[in-house]
This record gives sequence, structure tokens and C-alpha cells, in this order.
Amino acid sequence: MELDNHAEDLASDLGIDKEEVKADLQNLVEYSVPIDEAKQSLRRKYGDGSSGGSNTPSSKEIAEITTDDSNVTVTGVVLTTGKRSIRYQGDDHVIVEGRLADETGTIDYTAWEDFGLSAGDTITAGNASVREWDGEPELNLGESTSLSFDTDSLTVPYETGGDAQLADLQTGDRAVNVEVAVVDCERRTIDGRDGETEILSGVFGDESGRLPFTNWDPAPEIEEGSTVRIENAYVQEFRGVPEVNVSEFSTVTTLERAVDVGVETTTMDVGAAVATGGIYDVEVVGNVLAVREGSGLIQRCPECYRVIQKGQCRTHGDVDGIDDLRVKAILDDGTGAVTVVLDDELTEQVYGGTLEDALEQAREAMDQEVVADTIREHIVGLEYRVRGHLSVDEYGANLDAESFEESEDEPTVRASAFLEEVHS
Ligand SMILES: [Zn+2]
Repeated sequence: MELDNHAEDLASDLGIDKEEVKADLQNLVEYSVPIDEAKQSLRRKYGDGSSGGSNTPSSKEIAEITTDDSNVTVTGVVLTTGKRSIRYQGDDHVIVEGRLADETGTIDYTAWEDFGLSAGDTITAGNASVREWDGEPELNLGESTSLSFDTDSLTVPYETGGDAQLADLQTGDRAVNVEVAVVDCERRTIDGRDGETEILSGVFGDESGRLPFTNWDPAPEIEEGSTVRIENAYVQEFRGVPEVNVSEFSTVTTLERAVDVGVETTTMDVGAAVATGGIYDVEVVGNVLAVREGSGLIQRCPECYRVIQKGQCRTHGDVDGIDDLRVKAILDDGTGAVTVVLDDELTEQVYGGTLEDALEQAREAMDQEVVADTIREHIVGLEYRVRGHLSVDEYGANLDAESFEESEDEPTVRASAFLEEVHS
């Protein structure tokens, strides 16, 4: 759903001006507050009593809590705690997030007050409000929550602390600890909430795989080639794939040991890969069904680098386009389909020529579509093994290719190998 629609929803629920709500919403979302959480905050700000609940909350075991509950009293062990800063009503606000467990299950929580929670504490949270996040119930610990630390500690069948492998991390995970090698790292200047600020971004790797990261408060320990232990990181979606966020509240320490970065890429069916909702570094094998429009020789806006049509950029108007090559190909393996996007280098490979060659061919034919046609002739109908980063959004599934190779095991080869096996 667009921000506009969310704002409209809220405005009509709360009976207030849409533009005002939209500005608040935009602010929260820009600072990486998940949309559901942002809406919940605004409901509180504008006084929607629905999560307040005046009934005395009942004591519940964690497995019994559902999204239909408004307020509950829970006793459990704090498995993880992580701090994160968000901007709320114009002020920076530190919230504590993590997971709570009892004998029956686990539940994520957000604490809006600093209750001094530590992993391993057994607590009773009286009058904790329940909200829905991604279809699951979550606990909100705030002003109206009475929180006590229990001296009798509860034994739960879950490990405390948030140690995790990169391959297991999912968007929305909080307070995670990882031990990683910094595979790739660059320093960038961005327009942050307080003007220009420097951040680090790149790729982490461990035995299980690789994931992109952003370090909002550059830690000197994080540099290309180093190995580090990071405590209290959180995972957020960026451009459709999970990303490790290292904040000012994260602890970064240099590791003495080496971390082997798993080179094994996960190979998946297209259908299963799309179902993950976005995955960094995945390999699929399928047939190219078609080369989409906007492939071959294209022009980009010199300002924003987006693809332009007939010299017109949607943002910058009449511009002198930059020539470029790209391919958007539909790849299908029977379980699903993705649009594979090839950059200029990979496009040159499948085209069998350079950008200069493509311009020459277009000039001779007096039609730049001939370049896409040539690429079509080269790849449509063949099977390819594609490795890259998959993002999934409302417009579909895009696989940004890092490698694009004709599959070696052609169906006929597989068939004869199978026959050989049968006959031997
Ligand atoms: Zn532009």
C-alpha cells in the first residue's frame, strides 16, 4: 500500500487532517520505522483509545496470546534486548526491542520506556498492550505497563542472547549478534536526519552466506578484510532484500579468528525464491521466455540515471540521454518466473558486442530496437543459470544478475545421463 493510502486510512480512523498525518508518517518511515509501527505510534499520538483498553488484562501464557488480545499480563524470560533510535514527534527516541519467552513459546516486544531489561531476566509485564505486526502478535511495553523483575527465574527451552548466522536473518529481526568478515565496505555521505552524515555500507559474509549492511555510525573496526563480532544489530529491508543495520547502540569488536565466507550460493526453485519475499545472493536455473521492452540499447537521464524515453526524464524533463546497454529477460523454471536484469557488462556478453557495436548496428538499421532483437535471437528459448540478488515488490520479482551463464546441463544432456544410469 502507498503511504498516501496509509495516511488516508489513519486520517479517517482518527478524524484528523490527512496531510498532517501523512507528514508524520513520512517522517517515521524515512527514519526506518516499519509502516505498521509508525501507524501504531500515530494512533497513540492522536489518541485512538483502541489499544488502551480499560479492562483488567488477564494473565496469559505466551502461546495463548493472539492479535485479538488488547492487553495482557505475561511472565517470561527476556531472550534478547536491543536498543534502536527512532525519531518520534520531532524528537529522537530510544526504544528497546527483543524477544520474550516462557515454557509455551516466544513473542517479540517493544519497550517505549527504559525498564533496564537484560537478557536472562525473568519479568512480569502487567498490562502490556498487544499489537499486530506482520500478522503476528507483539507486546508493547509502555507507560501503562507495570513491570517487575521476578527473583524466581523461569526455565525456558530457548537460548538467551541473539547469536545468529547471516543465512538465518530475516527482515524484522532485532538484537541479533553476528560474527562476520567484512567482504566489501565503502564510505558514503548521505542526507541524514541531521543533515549530511557519513555512513558505511557494504557486504558481510560468514560461513552461511552473505548479506548487505549499513553502519550508521561508522565503527573503525569495520573495514574491508576485517573480521568482527557485532552485538545488537537489527535487520531491515532495503531495496527488497534483508540488510544488517549496525547502529550507534551496536557493539563492534575485532575478532582474532578468521571467518570463512561460504561461497556456496543457495540454489532454489524460482517459485520458492520469490516466496521468500527477497533474498540476497541466490541462484536459479530456468528458461528465458522473453526479452522485455526497455532492453538492448537504452538511454539514461544524466541527472538521475533512470531510463528515459524519447529524451524525456519523468523528473528532469528534456535531457541529453546517456547511451547504455541492459537486458530485462523473463526467466521461468516451471515453478515461477522472475525478471532477470543484466547490467551493461553482462548485456555485452549476451549481445556479443560492445556499446559501440550496438550504436553502429542501430545507426545502420536506423532503429535501435535491432539491438534488443539480436539479444532475443541469442537467448530466448535457452536455459540459463543465474546468480544475483532477488527483490520482490508490488511490480513483481526482479533478479539483479551478478552472473548469467548458459546452463551446462541441457535437458537433452540430463536425459542421456539419466538413460546411461538406467542402462548401467
Ligand atoms: Zn532524471
